[in-house]
Amino acid sequence: MKISFPVEPSFDTQRTQFLDAARAAGAVLTTYAHPLKGPNGEALATDVAWLGKPDASRVLMTLSGTHGVEGYYGSTCQAAWLRELASQPLPDDVAVLMVHLINPWGTAWVRRVNEDNVDLNRNYLDFAAALPDNSRYEALHEIYTCRDIDGPQRQHADDLLARNVAVLGWSGVQAIVGAGQYLHADGLFYGGQQPTWSNRTLRDIAGRFLKPAQVAFVFDLHTGAGAFGHPMLMSITQRAYPGLADAQRLYGPWLYTLLTHADAEVSETGVVARATGYTSQAMLDALPDTHLMQLVIECGTYPEAPMHTALRDDHWLHLYGDPRDARGRAISRALFDSFMPADDDWRELVWTRTRQIWKRALAALPGIQPVQR
Ligand SMILES: [Zn+2]
Repeated sequence: MKISFPVEPSFDTQRTQFLDAARAAGAVLTTYAHPLKGPNGEALATDVAWLGKPDASRVLMTLSGTHGVEGYYGSTCQAAWLRELASQPLPDDVAVLMVHLINPWGTAWVRRVNEDNVDLNRNYLDFAAALPDNSRYEALHEIYTCRDIDGPQRQHADDLLARNVAVLGWSGVQAIVGAGQYLHADGLFYGGQQPTWSNRTLRDIAGRFLKPAQVAFVFDLHTGAGAFGHPMLMSITQRAYPGLADAQRLYGPWLYTLLTHADAEVSETGVVARATGYTSQAMLDALPDTHLMQLVIECGTYPEAPMHTALRDDHWLHLYGDPRDARGRAISRALFDSFMPADDDWRELVWTRTRQIWKRALAALPGIQPVQR
C-alpha cells in the first residue's frame, strides 16, 4: 500500500487526513482541545479515534507525537492504517484506539518539546516526590542558553561542547543532557515542574478508553534515535512487567528490551537509558489492572552530532529568535528534516515496518491471556 509522508510540516493537513481516515473507517472520534494556537492561528487538539466495538476487551493503541515533530511520521502511519482497516474486519472482541498527536503544539510548531519547553518523555513523573537530580548537566547548561547563533558567544559555547565531546564522546554528552533536568526551564531536555497538558490528557485517555480493557498493546511512535532507516521495536520501562513476556514471545529478536535507571550505562540504541518520566512507565502506572504490552517504535534518522545541532539551533530559535523570519524558517526546516528525512526509501521502510509490527499485534491480541490476579 502506497503512503505519502508530508513534504512540508502542517498540523492542519495531518489532522484533516487523520480525521477523514477515521471517519471513513467508521471510528468514533473524541477531541481534546488544546488551549493554544498553531503558527498559522490554527486550532490545536489531540484527537482520539476508537475503531471497533465499544466494549471490546482487547485494544491495540497507537500514540503519535509525544515528541511533537516526530508526529509527522506517527500521524501519517496512523491515517494510512485507518484507511487499510476501513476495508477489513477487526478480530472478534478487539478494538483499535488511535491517539493522534498528544503534543499538538509541538507538532504544529515543528518542535520536539511542548509549549512549556518540556520534553514529554521526561514529564511523566510523580511530582509530589523528589525530582530526579542531574548535577552533571549544570556544567553544560550554558551551551544551550547562549544568546548568539553565531559570533564569539556561540564560539565559546561550541568550544565548551567540543571539550566535553572530546572527553566523554557524543554518547557520553548525550547521556548527561538527554537524561533530562528539572531545574532550568530554559534548558534542553527539561522535564517540567508539573504534569503538562499532554500528560494530563494522556492519563485521561488511558483511564477513559483503556482501563476497561483486559489486554492491550500500546505503541508510542518516535523518530530520531538509532541508525538511519532502522525502525526499532522497543520496550522502555523502569522494571519488567507482566505483559513484557508476551511481547517478547510475540516479537522474538525483533524486540529490544531496555530497562531504565539513573545509573544505566549508555544504551547502544541511541535511546537514553538514564532518563525517567517516559510515557511507557506512565501507561503501566495508569493501568495496573490491564495486561499491557507497552512498546515503542523508534525510527532512526541521523547521527548524534547533526541531531544535536538541529535541536540546539531550534532551542535557540524559540528562546531568542523569530520562527517566522528567514533564519527561523531555515532552522525549523532543518529540524523537520532531521526527524522526517526527505528520502523516499527511508519513508517507505518506516511505514512497512510499522505496519508489520501492528499487524502482528492485531492478529495476536485475541490469543493473549491476562495474568490471573
Ligand atoms: Zn521521540
